[in-house]
Amino acid sequence: MSNKTFTMPDSIYAYMIDVSLREPDVLVRLREETSRLSTSMMQIAPEQGQFMRLLVKALGIKRAIEVGVYTGYSSLSVALAMPEDGRIIACDVNKKWTDIARRYWKEAGVDHKIELKVAPALETLDTLIGEQLQDTFDFAFIDADKTRYKDYYDRVLTLVRPGGLIAIDNTLWTGSVADESNQTESTQAIREVNDLLHTDERVDISLLPIGDGLTLALKR
Ligand code: SAM
Ligand code: CA
Repeated sequence: MSNKTFTMPDSIYAYMIDVSLREPDVLVRLREETSRLSTSMMQIAPEQGQFMRLLVKALGIKRAIEVGVYTGYSSLSVALAMPEDGRIIACDVNKKWTDIARRYWKEAGVDHKIELKVAPALETLDTLIGEQLQDTFDFAFIDADKTRYKDYYDRVLTLVRPGGLIAIDNTLWTGSVADESNQTESTQAIREVNDLLHTDERVDISLLPIGDGLTLALKR
């Protein structure tokens, strides 16, 4: 796993960040606090957060699902770009990390846009389907445990509307997916979802080499 775009030399990466990164103060502070945790590499790259803010604005996204919150960088990025009546259902199982997220959502004044569900994400997604919310979300971001990616994709594909966007994170998995000798459960699970998406006629796709690989799937 990597939390910066890994496909370019450091000097070019530094230049790219230098001439293009616009990171609101509250996100800078969240990134600094998270960097003190041993798990900080789980956070998305700042340039990816900026790209997601641009997507939210460009597509007028108002109803979103996030699978995998951690300390809240991606959900805060999405919430900041949404209008006042935007709403995110945010799924995670970890209270300690999401307590940090809640603190920053509040500080940024967007906590009213984010409904945190501290429970296994599959349960939350199945509940939403049970509540007849299929075809109602504009956007979903999948970034939790990789071995369940296929199940998350299956559920969010039901929940987003035709024309809605699904973003799946870590689809390049620091290159491990292309290394035949790497057969860890997570690597195999990501390969499987990449293969599934490649031929899935229900969506249009693009795999972007941003961060650790971000696949966009637009529901037909
Ligand atoms: N999107 C986050 C960000 O921008 O900082 C990073 C998410 S991190 C890679 C993955 C998260 O998935 C962790 O916070 C972990 O607690 C959560 N997670 C793991 N298994 C889960 C499950 N079964 N249901 C919901 N969340 C889960
Ligand atoms: Ca990720």
